[in-house]
Amino acid sequence: MPGFRLELDSCEPEPYGSVASVLSPDALQQPADSQFKDTHGRRFSYLRLSITDVCNFRCDYCLPDGYQCGDKTQPLSVDEIRTLASTFAAHGTRKVRITGGEPVLRDDLPEIIRVLKQTPGIETVALTTNGYKINQHIDSWKDAGLDQLNVSIDSLVPKVFHKITGHNRLHEILTGLDRALTLGFGRVKVNAVLLKGHNGDQLNRFLDWVKTTPITLRFIELMETGQNPAYFTEHHLSGESIKQRLLVAGWKQKMRSKDAGPAQEFHHPDYQGSIGLIMPYSKDFCSSCNRLRISALGKLHLCLFGEQGYDLRPLMSDGKQQQLETAIQELLLNKKATHFLHQGNTGAIQHFAQIGG
Ligand code: SAM
Repeated sequence: MPGFRLELDSCEPEPYGSVASVLSPDALQQPADSQFKDTHGRRFSYLRLSITDVCNFRCDYCLPDGYQCGDKTQPLSVDEIRTLASTFAAHGTRKVRITGGEPVLRDDLPEIIRVLKQTPGIETVALTTNGYKINQHIDSWKDAGLDQLNVSIDSLVPKVFHKITGHNRLHEILTGLDRALTLGFGRVKVNAVLLKGHNGDQLNRFLDWVKTTPITLRFIELMETGQNPAYFTEHHLSGESIKQRLLVAGWKQKMRSKDAGPAQEFHHPDYQGSIGLIMPYSKDFCSSCNRLRISALGKLHLCLFGEQGYDLRPLMSDGKQQQLETAIQELLLNKKATHFLHQGNTGAIQHFAQIGG
């Protein structure tokens, strides 16, 4: 089996060998309580899967100096991803989000989407991207079975966008987004990290956009990581002030379904789009946690702000599926009720590109 190419040539991994591994569809017949769950009553139906930690953007709050090539160990192969997906699906995972780094840098992304979509039990395949070359690739992702698209756009002001990300590509990304909207994806989501001093005063501009554009725009509170404490102190902005402004302007908060993720969503009859707020510093944020994370090298992260990750890669090969399932079930017993961000404890994460956010 051939390897894949990364567009960031200097970080090209070595080609890898074949790992043949597929779980039998019978695994899906497991009893309902085989769903992955923790000791705090939470069930995990959502997997965030990083397929590379390489990123081509230099977002101020994440990789201000750009991606640093280090360990050239290859990220998970398509076969390993297939095994993982089958295992998670057999234990209640219904949605997989592909993330990174920048996942679009892997040229086998359409194949990965296809493999995930063809996994019995997986209902939704989503992708989070910085929008790089979206216009060029979006049709192939759609053909491969992509259901949902999230694009990160921190500012609609080209100069500010450039300053935050290190790239002058806003126009190109918005053109690609328009194309995505014509392809009939479920509602396209746009992520914007709230940044005091950068975009914190641009709410009206974002709202004007949402008025005529049928997207869900999600404001994400900046989170502290091992590498950004000074930046965090200077730029963190609570989503609460946005929430109050929305409510005063007649936006209504949607009721959250039991299995909804942690975003609070708002809608307004005069707007085609809706707004989401992701406020990890708010009370009870973690009580609705429904997700697990796998890094590009195959480590299970029980929490974005948790431990170094548990290496599952040795179990992603033929004949070891039972061990893989057991390992995940046992590791889940260690999942804490909440992160400890309020105490300034960011766990092992240095920046989000490491795990995929
Ligand atoms: N490269 C892709 C992208 O830009 O969407 C996927 C990976 S990126 C790590 C995923 C999301 O995490 C992006 O929306 C990014 O803005 C967000 N992010 C990164 N660092 C963050 C931080 N410290 N606090 C909050 N969000 C962050």
